[in-house]
Amino acid sequence: MKQLVSVVIPIYNEQDGLARFYLKLNQALGRLGKYRFELIFVNDGSQDDSAEVIRRLAAKDRRVRLLQLVRNFGKEIATTAGLHYAAGEAIILIDADGQHPVSLLPKMLKKWQNGARLVIGVRRDRLPAGRLFKGMLPRLFYRLLGRSSDAAIVPGSTDFRLLDKSVKRVFSKLKERRRMTRGLIDWLGFTPEYIAFTPAARLSGKPSYSGAKRLKLALDGFVSLSLAPLYFAAWAGLVITGGSALAILLLLIEQTLLGDPWQLKVGLAGFAVLLVLLLAGLLLVSQGILAAYLAHIHTETQNRPLYVIDSANSIRLNQRKRNEAATAGGTEA
Ligand code: UDP
Ligand code: MG
Repeated sequence: MKQLVSVVIPIYNEQDGLARFYLKLNQALGRLGKYRFELIFVNDGSQDDSAEVIRRLAAKDRRVRLLQLVRNFGKEIATTAGLHYAAGEAIILIDADGQHPVSLLPKMLKKWQNGARLVIGVRRDRLPAGRLFKGMLPRLFYRLLGRSSDAAIVPGSTDFRLLDKSVKRVFSKLKERRRMTRGLIDWLGFTPEYIAFTPAARLSGKPSYSGAKRLKLALDGFVSLSLAPLYFAAWAGLVITGGSALAILLLLIEQTLLGDPWQLKVGLAGFAVLLVLLLAGLLLVSQGILAAYLAHIHTETQNRPLYVIDSANSIRLNQRKRNEAATAGGTEA
């Protein structure tokens, strides 16, 4: 029996490029005869005729499935839905706009066959400095996020990826709504293998993810994966309080005990300014304390599994304790 591989394709207003994308995909899959495929098109509330195009494809090709969302939920949720419905031993996420090269599918599957449970496509295009939103900002974003969260995130990593079904099973347990799918997959902690690729030009149409939508995604990703911004006030407060307290102390000594040898002539006003700074710092610190509790609530409400056990690579897990661990919030891949 051949292994089933799911291909999940999020679709939002792609009517013009879709048929061509399908042809390319079909060609690439034709050279992968050792697998069976299901093609899950997730129509994310397209306002154009994308659904009709998919229906026509489904009429000719029994591998094609259509997952129709009632409205536009955004790509993150669309890919999540596709993942939930995928039945394959491996699941490939790929954009419908032709930017993710289907020519890399054999390489991805090969890595999976050789034991990789997560294969991630990484953009290798050297981005011209002028392309702020598609180049520099995302890079900076991933670097910051990678540093300040538990998820290992490589700059340039994309949604073009392959997940083993064990990874998918754990991913399905993450319930948070405002999500950045690739960030959550990275958070799970499976060691990925990387494939570099240069994104092609869009087959047609315009990218629907730009400007504001991109910024919102970045914010959601950051807030869901990192608590660093929440603690910012606390750190700023500590620096300001510490700095002004030190300055007050030094100046007091210099002005009174030593008789102002540096001729600073700090009057009452000067001390008043420092005192205000000190208080501002204390306020920030107390905000930081609030933030710490908020962070606590935040992680509790995310309701993620406590840990992910790599059951394929564990030895003699106690059968009777497995259910217990599962109800206690652990999960097995
Ligand atoms: N997409 C989606 N829902 C949306 C926006 C986009 O399912 O709300 C799909 C889109 O059809 C495409 C993929 O997500 O297959 C990537 O979208 P886009 O090309 O606009 O993003 P970019 O390549 O600029 O990241
Ligand atoms: Mg695109």
